[in-house]
Amino acid sequence: MEDASRGRFFGPDNDRALAVEVLYETTAVRLVLDEEGAVAGIEARDRAGMLSRLDAPAVVLASGGFEGDSEMMARYIGFDLPTVSRGGAHNRGEGIQMALDVGARPIGQWNQFHPLPADPRTAGAASGLMTFAAVMETVPYSLMVNNSGDRFMDEGATSMDYLYDLVGRAVQRQPSQTGYAVFDSKAMTLPHYRKAVLRDKVFEPYQADTVEGLATLIGVDGEALTATVASYNAAVPQDDAQFDAMRLDGLSTDRLTPPKSNWARSLDTPPFYCYPVTCSNVFTMGGIGTDHTARVVDMDGIPIPGLYAAGEMTGIYRDKYVGATAVLRGLVFGRLAGYNAVDHSFNQARP
Ligand SMILES: Cc1cc2nc3c(=O)[nH]c(=O)nc-3n(C[C@H](O)[C@H](O)[C@H](O)COP(=O)(O)OP(=O)(O)OC[C@H]3O[C@@H](n4cnc5c(N)ncnc54)[C@H](O)[C@@H]3O)c2cc1C
Repeated sequence: MEDASRGRFFGPDNDRALAVEVLYETTAVRLVLDEEGAVAGIEARDRAGMLSRLDAPAVVLASGGFEGDSEMMARYIGFDLPTVSRGGAHNRGEGIQMALDVGARPIGQWNQFHPLPADPRTAGAASGLMTFAAVMETVPYSLMVNNSGDRFMDEGATSMDYLYDLVGRAVQRQPSQTGYAVFDSKAMTLPHYRKAVLRDKVFEPYQADTVEGLATLIGVDGEALTATVASYNAAVPQDDAQFDAMRLDGLSTDRLTPPKSNWARSLDTPPFYCYPVTCSNVFTMGGIGTDHTARVVDMDGIPIPGLYAAGEMTGIYRDKYVGATAVLRGLVFGRLAGYNAVDHSFNQARP
């Protein structure tokens, strides 16, 4: 957008103050169009169930994905998941559906979501957030096992930023969608480990003096887990001098399936610990198409007059979420949507 038009509304000479009214506990349910198909406002339902019409020459949709709607999750992704934050439960795809209903183009990968491995004990925690940092930071220095005590993934496949996505997906495919990150007391001496896991910890990891004792605590078959740990210990290098938690150190198992490609130290120093792990949902990847100025487009790529969108509901991602880009794109396109919606509104109001 041009600086000149930005200045018209937000520069020092701007004399048109905008008042903003926030309607809490009010759900937008439908877009209202005029007879020419331009946006003319929305209909919203309040807590008492009353429907009201809000007239507006421009509407910005920024109501997130559909991670909070079990029906849409089942339809597009095939299963439901806990949302990692309490707020996610309110993102039920209504904004996406409202836009589709007026001809917006679907975009993004509708059968995909951004997973985060999290501690299932913290679902519904008072903080509103499931514990995920402790789990993520621990997995690379652990063995991941399922209910049967079997390993199911390469815990050292790549660095933590890339790994956590793989962990979430692998755990989701396990029986009861549960895995266990089993580690020993050597993890406690990793650089910055305690600080890292303290960030959002609600529950301590399970702890026992023996692997068998740990298995009993977490309800996993003790013999199976002991055998898994023994075969892993037999496959790690005798000399672990190259272990380096701060980089991909190449310390890998030999002839073990699945392998552990980095940080493969023996698991032999009590006490032994375990975080249970489930797959939580950060956001969904299907959404509606916009152009480079945040205008919602139809199937022909033509902007729907007066309709703008930003954030999670605009799709974009495919297969993999690139860390830390969600807030950035929400900021960039949210700002553009805001400027352009105001611009559009004033242009509509002009005689
Ligand atoms: C735990 C966690 C950690 C994250 N870490 C990062 C990170 O490090 N870096 C990063 O870039 N991103 C991160 N993200 C992702 C990022 O925070 C989100 O993608 C982003 O906040 C989405 O913004 P949004 O405005 O699109 O949607 P939201 O922030 O979800 O806002 C949508 C709003 O719309 C409301 N709403 C929904 N439906 C309706 C309706 N029908 N009517 C009225 N209102 C409605 C909702 O109640 C909600 O308030 C993280 C997300 C989580 C949950």
